[in-house]
Amino acid sequence: MTLLKAVRGTRDLLPPETELWNHVEAVTRRVFARYNFGEIRTPIFEDTSLFARSVGEETDIVSKEMYTWEDRARAQSEKSQSLTLRPENTAGVVRAYIEHNLGETGLLQKLYYIGPQFRRERPQKGRYRQFWQIGAEVIGPPSAGSESPLRDAEVLEMLSSFLDELGITGWNLVLNSVGSSTDRPKYVAALRQALAPVKDRMSPDNQRRAETNPLRVLDSKDPADEAIIATLPKIADYLDEASKAHFAAVCAALDACGVKYEVNPRLVRGLDYYTRTTFEFTHGGLGAQNALLGGGRYDGLSEMLGGPKAPGIGFAMGLDRLILTLQSAQIESAPSASAILADAFVAPLGEQLNAPALKLARDLRRQGLRIELGDGGFRIKKSFEIANKLARNIILLGEDEHASGILTVKNFATGEQTKIPRDQLASALQTR
Ligand code: ATP
Ligand code: MG
Repeated sequence: MTLLKAVRGTRDLLPPETELWNHVEAVTRRVFARYNFGEIRTPIFEDTSLFARSVGEETDIVSKEMYTWEDRARAQSEKSQSLTLRPENTAGVVRAYIEHNLGETGLLQKLYYIGPQFRRERPQKGRYRQFWQIGAEVIGPPSAGSESPLRDAEVLEMLSSFLDELGITGWNLVLNSVGSSTDRPKYVAALRQALAPVKDRMSPDNQRRAETNPLRVLDSKDPADEAIIATLPKIADYLDEASKAHFAAVCAALDACGVKYEVNPRLVRGLDYYTRTTFEFTHGGLGAQNALLGGGRYDGLSEMLGGPKAPGIGFAMGLDRLILTLQSAQIESAPSASAILADAFVAPLGEQLNAPALKLARDLRRQGLRIELGDGGFRIKKSFEIANKLARNIILLGEDEHASGILTVKNFATGEQTKIPRDQLASALQTR
């Protein structure tokens, strides 16, 4: 029989590596809470048209990377429906914002999520078909201040503090403005015009983009097209006064709190819904897939989905790539890749002591200790061998110990063996 394996581009996360994932998620929740974000959990699959309408038909994500299927009707009253595993989470959050009338509160909604996303891409280091994102969105009616450049700066400042708190150094924040719904079309028209005479000399991918989605040409990483791309018009020259002022205010607020950034006029990002501020945090340690996270403002997204005017800004961070960065940097505050040792291994000496051993383990666990429970069927030598791999101490529970309530405890690091009364065991283990 051929053995089944995890599907290409997906993987299992095993302990002890999952300790590191939990650590990053805990830091996320702690830091984001300080900015008063609340968690949202949206479904993993959605109606396909949600992504077509928001991310955009002409993007790589929608045109070739989505896991989409026709969900059969189960009853006469049902219609079959095209469903898609979410390739990103902003669309789902904005759908939920509209569906639950969150705009009616009149307040800004500050929502974050942690969860898997799915894209049929070519798997490689830092690129998977099921990957995890940590993301956040700040969205609300204009009266709540959702269009203010302070919101952009606050999100960027939060990200810099988050990366600092994780101990990730050496990141770069790359910033740009792609203009609003009024100035961007002018730029796209100029781009189209400039591309017309040169596009035949570009790679097939960029020839297609020049037709369907000229902004995406700027995003291209094809080295053969670099020379042509360098000659194309720059978005900064097409921004209207309002977009320029917005961008200047974001930069000024970042300067004021010492968050370093670099402006890159080619950073347009791959999704159609971005307006004004776009950004990426990159990290040199990641190699070709160097983006830790990306995001931007999406002032028209809610309306694109049939909702009320609800400008917003958000980002999505690649959790897999955060983990890779932490692992390659061997950051001290993060849990190490070596297995975590239990505080003690409880070894019943004989099967008749199994039940009392479970009771002892229960008492110690209820006092917060990490306990591994052996089996009275094991020879004592075997108990010691296993305990030595899994725990810092072994507690021997023989007939004498059971009767007297005084246990024999051996510490593997010091080799010291001591007798400890049962009611002092937890505190003794806590200190050693
Ligand atoms: P990239 O340029 O790396 O393809 P992207 O522009 O597709 O990224 P977004 O769609 O904005 O990125 O996603 C935000 C973040 O999610 C990325 O910066 C990256 O860290 C992570 N990410 C995106 N696609 C993948 C993937 N296939 N595997 C792992 N992480 C991913
Ligand atoms: Mg991508």
